[in-house]
Amino acid sequence: MRKHRIGIAFFYHESHSFSPMKTEMEQFRNEGYFIGDEIYDAYSGTKTEVGGFLDVLRQVENVETVPLLCSAAVPSGVVTTEAYSFIEKQMLESLMNAGRLDGLLLALHGAMVVEHLFDPEEHLLGKIRGILGSDVPIATTLDMHANLSEKMIEYTPLHFGFKTYPHVDMYEQGLQAAKALLKQLKNGVTYYAAFEKLPMMPPSINMRTAEGPMYKMIEWAKQVEDEEEVYNVSIFGGFPYSDIPMAGASVLVVALNPQKGKEAAQKLASLFWSVREEFIMDLPNVKQGLDMALSIEDNKPIVLADISDNPLSCGSGDTTELLREVVNLNLAETLFGGLYDPESIEACRKSGVGNKVTLLLGGKVSPEFGEPVQVEATIIALSDGVFYNSGPFNQNLKVDLKGAAHIRVGKMDILLIGRPMSANDPEMFRHIGLEPSTKRILCLKAKNHFRAAFETIVGHIIYVDAPGVASNRLTTFTYHHIPRPIWPLDDIQYKVELRRKETWKH
Ligand SMILES: [Zn+2]
Repeated sequence: MRKHRIGIAFFYHESHSFSPMKTEMEQFRNEGYFIGDEIYDAYSGTKTEVGGFLDVLRQVENVETVPLLCSAAVPSGVVTTEAYSFIEKQMLESLMNAGRLDGLLLALHGAMVVEHLFDPEEHLLGKIRGILGSDVPIATTLDMHANLSEKMIEYTPLHFGFKTYPHVDMYEQGLQAAKALLKQLKNGVTYYAAFEKLPMMPPSINMRTAEGPMYKMIEWAKQVEDEEEVYNVSIFGGFPYSDIPMAGASVLVVALNPQKGKEAAQKLASLFWSVREEFIMDLPNVKQGLDMALSIEDNKPIVLADISDNPLSCGSGDTTELLREVVNLNLAETLFGGLYDPESIEACRKSGVGNKVTLLLGGKVSPEFGEPVQVEATIIALSDGVFYNSGPFNQNLKVDLKGAAHIRVGKMDILLIGRPMSANDPEMFRHIGLEPSTKRILCLKAKNHFRAAFETIVGHIIYVDAPGVASNRLTTFTYHHIPRPIWPLDDIQYKVELRRKETWKH
C-alpha cells in the first residue's frame, strides 16, 4: 500500500488593529520559527496543536509526516506586510519542495490581520490550494477567538476550533483534525461544512468555558455532536480587537449530511444569539479592585488581573495604572508581574544583584495608558528568562522572555520581563525564584488563560478595568472596517433564518 505523505504547518497570530506595536519577523523568531525537522524538537511532547498532529501521524501505519514550517508570534499589533510576505513565501516554498503531498494539517489562529490583508488566513489557504490543487484534503485548527470568514470554508470544510477557554484542548483539536483528515484519506469520508456568521462581536472577558454563556454554548455543541451525521462543531467567539469586515462570532458544523449540518448550525446560531447579553461584564476600576482585594479575607493569594493589558490579548504588558497604585500603597506580600521593560532589565544587569537602582518602570509603549513609575529598587535576581510551561495551558512548551529581573520596591516584589508575555504559568515566576502561592496579592498581566495553572494555588480573582488596548469596553475603539450593524455596538434585531435576505434591522 502506498504511503500517505501528510504535511504539517503552523502559522499563528492574533492581531490587534488598535495596538501601536506592529508585529515583525523578530516577534515570530522570538516565539517560534521552525523549519523542517526543527519542528520535531520544538513540538514533540507538547500539548499544542502541532504536538497533536505529530502524535496521531506517528501512530498510524503507512503515513509519512512531512514537517514544513511552523511560525507563531505572541498576540500584538497587526503583522507587517514584510513579515507576512516572508513567512508566506517560506511556507509556499516548503510546500513546493516537499514533493507529493496527500494531505495537509495546518494549525492557524483565525484572527491574524496584516497591514495589507484583512483575512490573511484565507489568503494563505487560497495560495496553498493553488499549489496542492482542489483534491488534497486540508484540515486546520483554529482559536476559539477566530474571526472566521465564509471563504475559509470554501477551501476546506475541516476546521477544528478550540472548545476550551483557557485553551487547554489545543492538543486535543490537533488530534481531531489529524484523525478527520486520515478518515478522508483512508476511508473516503466526505465532509460538509455549514457556517453561520452572527452579527455580534462579544467581548472575551466572560467567554470562559467553565461557566457562563460559553459554557452553555459548548455543552450545546457537544449535544449536537452526539447526533447522527454530525461530525464536529466549533463555536467561535471571534476577536473583537481586529477591525476587519470578517470580525465577529460564528458557528461551524462539520457534518456527513449537508442538510443535517445546516439545521444544526442554524439552531446553534440562534442559541448563541440568545445568550449574548451574558457576555457583558461590568468591572471595577483599579482603586475599586484594590479596595475589594484588601477587604477580602482569604488564605490563598488574591489575584488582581489587569485584563486590559493582557499580552495574549495584544496588550503591551507595560501599562502602569495598577502598578502605580500598588507601589503607592507599598503592600507587603504582593507580587506584580510580568512587567515588560527591557530597558529596566538592562539597568538592573549593569548594577548587578544586591544593588540598588533608580528605575522608570513601564509606560514606554503606550504612555497614554499611564506614564512610567519612578521607583528605588533592589535587584534580587536576574535570569535569561527561559523556562518551560508547567501547564496545562501550552504544557512543556519552551518560553523565552528575553531576560527577566526580580526587583524589590518597598515591601513589594516585581518581575520585569524582556518581551510582553501573559503571566499564564507560575514557572514565569518560579524560574527566577519567586513563589506566587506564598503571596497575599498577585497583580498579574493576564486575563483568562492564567486560570488553567493558577486556579489551584489562588483564592479570589478580581478583574480590574484599567486603561489599555485590551479593554473590555469595545466602545473605547473607533472601528472603520467591521460590519455594521453589529452587537453590542449597535442595537439590532436578528433572526438566523432571515439573515441572507438582509433583514437585520436597527
Ligand atoms: Zn483565544
